[in-house]
Amino acid sequence: MAGCLEGKVVAVTGAGRGIGRDIALLAAKEGAKVVVNDLGVSTDGANPDATPANEVVNEIKAAGGQAASNGDSVADPAAAEKIVQCALDNFGRIDGIVNNAGILRDVIFHKMSHADWKAVIDVHLHGAFNVSKAAAMHFKNQGSGSYVHFTSTSGLIGNIGQANYAAAKMGIVGLSKIIALDMARFNVRSNCISPWAWSRMTASIPTETEAQKARVEKFKQMSTAHIAPPVVYLLSDLAKDVNAQIIGVRKNELFLFNHNRPLRSVQRSEGWNAQTLHEHAFPALKASFAKLETSPEVISWDPI
Ligand code: NAD
Repeated sequence: MAGCLEGKVVAVTGAGRGIGRDIALLAAKEGAKVVVNDLGVSTDGANPDATPANEVVNEIKAAGGQAASNGDSVADPAAAEKIVQCALDNFGRIDGIVNNAGILRDVIFHKMSHADWKAVIDVHLHGAFNVSKAAAMHFKNQGSGSYVHFTSTSGLIGNIGQANYAAAKMGIVGLSKIIALDMARFNVRSNCISPWAWSRMTASIPTETEAQKARVEKFKQMSTAHIAPPVVYLLSDLAKDVNAQIIGVRKNELFLFNHNRPLRSVQRSEGWNAQTLHEHAFPALKASFAKLETSPEVISWDPI
């Protein structure tokens, strides 16, 4: 039986390692021709190296698949166009984009530099825009296409020391939603994955306290290979009715995340002042306030 991506060409960014590598391998196994993009940088974005992307391409070819290597940075609009051009030059079309590339510059907010902020926003949010934009006109003209972007519970729920990363990952949720709204008329879909997986990125979680050590032991049970099947599904035509969704993937669990909607409203026909806000509005809203929680506090059970 033909694989679910037979005949399709997909580009996976950050596919030289971690989650992206497993997506590229599974996409190729399911019949896709794959552009393996990776700048080959360290977790904080330094020291580019073509080796990781080339190795994944060799692995795909050794298994009988088709793949091309690309070492451009998603953070640069002109370079991002070359990622899509690589698909067109090698395989003649583009059907799917996986915006997976990422870096981390974790630091508590009052110590976060402008450079830490900008580097993370550039790779995640601007990177996802740049590669999506490069494919958009091709998707429109052919009347089909699928985007899969990577968000995180760091933004969806919360995490300490990740203001840059959380802001970028919530920006990606907005980007995906509006691409979905704007391009549904051309049969183009856009969804987000929020993964949990043991990779070098999660290997940077501190292990100073007993609670942190326990959290890392849990992370080690969640492999990057668990993330690939839902991504490949979303790229395929089997998912033709799935658009604008946020899917969490954690070992063998899948989550559907909600989208923000008003929880509660209060109204006074004469308008509000400090006293009525204090005595009426905020006491009424307080019953529905979000708690100040982090992702591991909310998703507290062991991976299944
Ligand atoms: P990883 O560090 O193993 O892989 C990321 C890859 O992106 C690296 O190979 C790196 O070289 C590449 N990259 C970085 N900057 C790039 C650029 N400018 N252009 C092209 N490639 C670039 O990390 P991972 O854990 O596999 O993460 C993959 C994605 O999943 C990221 O978007 C990350 O934010 C997201 N995510 C991961 C987890 C997790 O638990 N691992 C949780 C939430 C979100």
